[in-house]
Amino acid sequence: MEYITLNNGVKMPMAGIGVFMMSPAEAEAAVESALKSGVRLIDTANGYMNESGTGRGIKKSGVAREEIFLVTKLWPTVYEKETAVEETLARLGTDYIDLLFLHQPTANWREGYKNIEKAVRAGKVKAIGLSNFPDELLREAIDTAEIKPQIVQVEAHPYYPQTELKKILAETGMGLMAWYPLGHGDKNLIQEPIFTKLAQKYGKSNAQIILRWHIQSGNVVFPGSKNPAHIRDNFDIFDFALTEDEMAEIAKVDKGVRYYTATPEMIAAYAKMELQPDL
Ligand code: NAD
Repeated sequence: MEYITLNNGVKMPMAGIGVFMMSPAEAEAAVESALKSGVRLIDTANGYMNESGTGRGIKKSGVAREEIFLVTKLWPTVYEKETAVEETLARLGTDYIDLLFLHQPTANWREGYKNIEKAVRAGKVKAIGLSNFPDELLREAIDTAEIKPQIVQVEAHPYYPQTELKKILAETGMGLMAWYPLGHGDKNLIQEPIFTKLAQKYGKSNAQIILRWHIQSGNVVFPGSKNPAHIRDNFDIFDFALTEDEMAEIAKVDKGVRYYTATPEMIAAYAKMELQPDL
């Protein structure tokens, strides 16, 4: 495993698993299986409505809590709720969160940020993240925060490497967690000839080459998978390294295109989207 050290000194594994679009039972099974095969970074969210299943998977794995880097996200409808962090901890069955995000730049996110800062001071949260924040709001958050944020979580992959955002992150020492690291499974991306060529050279799969590119670009990855073989493969990316020339060749597939662009109307709708009970 390789690690990044966040700008507050917290050490974070660079590869893990995300449980987006999984039922609580699926998240439980995926988390248990991932932890048993050595994965130590888990990414969930209030909005995935599977934090309770994630917590059960952690317990069933038998892996000690302090060995796990647990990431979750507050949903906009609870940003102003004083008990939002406590309720999140209760669902996860833990007494601290390694990294807590504001999931969307909407509703009263400024108050939500203060809520997370309080939880950091109380030792319930170790690091703060901002997910899906456009550059101008990210800059505002960085400038106004009492406790500066450590990391962003945004869509990033070889078709959209986030070149502009990376300049802001470099100024502030912030990290990047890449969502859709495999282009949400898009075959066009995964089967780009450059990945097939490098997969043959290194005896790896195309997906592993893409994930290795992320690691060498400094991105934390947490590809989604319910398939135990894929979960293991996605983690087996630390025994080889791409050369600088190969990294440069991969940079050429940048299309400047994302798979998912939230319109202002969609972002406003998130502020009103109530969550279902997470069982
Ligand atoms: P992804 O890019 O990780 O792609 C997952 C797809 O790739 C799945 O269809 C899976 O079957 C396939 N896949 C996984 N491993 C593979 C392998 N080794 N070989 C071939 N195919 C493989 O996209 P995702 O799962 O949608 O996103 C990853 C994580 O990002 C989510 O679990 C979630 O935690 C996070 N996410 C966050 C946000 C946000 O707003 N912050 C939004 C979307 C997703």
